[in-house]
Amino acid sequence: MSEERTEISEIGEFGLIDHLNEKIIIKHISTIKGIGDDAAVIEAGDHVKVVTTDLLLEGIHFDLSYAPLPHIGFKAVAVNISDVAAMNAIPKQITVSIALSNRFSVEAVDALYAGINAAAEHYSVDVIGGDTTASRSGLVISVTAIGESKKESLSFRSGAKINDIICVTGDLGGALVGLQILEREKQVFLANPDMKPELEKYSYVTGRQLKPEARMDIVHELRELGVVPSSMMDISDGLASELFHICKASNVGVTIYEDKLPIDKQTFDTAVELNLDPITCVLNGGEDYELLFTIDQKDFEKLEKHPDIHFIGHVTKTEEGKYLVTKSGTAVQLKAQGWKHF
Ligand code: ADP
Ligand code: MG
Repeated sequence: MSEERTEISEIGEFGLIDHLNEKIIIKHISTIKGIGDDAAVIEAGDHVKVVTTDLLLEGIHFDLSYAPLPHIGFKAVAVNISDVAAMNAIPKQITVSIALSNRFSVEAVDALYAGINAAAEHYSVDVIGGDTTASRSGLVISVTAIGESKKESLSFRSGAKINDIICVTGDLGGALVGLQILEREKQVFLANPDMKPELEKYSYVTGRQLKPEARMDIVHELRELGVVPSSMMDISDGLASELFHICKASNVGVTIYEDKLPIDKQTFDTAVELNLDPITCVLNGGEDYELLFTIDQKDFEKLEKHPDIHFIGHVTKTEEGKYLVTKSGTAVQLKAQGWKHF
């Protein structure tokens, strides 16, 4: 070991993953896709398996002072199902590993598992194992999800083609705005415990933060309509950051239009109330768990009337860069601020 010391924050989370990936050599031809997409892909006879894992830590990913344990359990599963959906695959099994400090009782673990089991039911997956250990610093949950697909139905981040249409599901920015509200009300409560938090009028945005839904409904509908997205990923770190991933993996550029970006009215109004720019929330807010995908123009007709799929722009040549066309018609360069833990 040299004396050199590089702070992780200097290279960031994605830089760190790239750095680790440089030293990883794939040995088996059954490993179709390793690091670099929403899930890994493994050959499995006449079909393929996808595998993905996510780690949730108390104090980093959730705060027990406002997130109820069943919601945390549900979310820990949903965020992994979302990565399976992002491959256009169908989830089948999960493993669940937990680390518990002595603050947690059997009843608390039951509450957490009420959410995990509800999600397993909701997404029709079997809980097939995991691990349990003690923790010195709060609750840690790690879920691994395994899904299945035909190889030709998979959507990778790398398949976007010039002139493809860029689509997003649902609406964006709500989870970030919801988090700001929950944090604000927590501070109000800490300052004066007699104050009842006023959360009712924010129920949509707080729900987006506390109870995200993986868009398996969209995956099933795309199958029914016979559409395989040319590329796809889920929006966990913010739309702009995810577009950068697609551009890098597919070697393309993108142009998106501000007036096409989906935002819920409550998200918009609450962002304004919090002095946040609603469009910045849409572009850089994390944890919405909607799907971002691209389709060939020939598939547009099949999706055109879908009430929950929005067509936000198109894929361009790499040289054309990554642009947002504002409502006034000016093209501004997209910045991927993303969701930084480091
Ligand atoms: P997502 O946001 O879709 O969960 P991530 O940004 O967490 O994806 O991860 C991107 C890619 O890097 C994935 O292929 C993931 O498996 C891989 N990855 C993340 N952390 C590590 C790690 N510590 N070691 C090896 N691969 C990792
Ligand atoms: Mg993902």
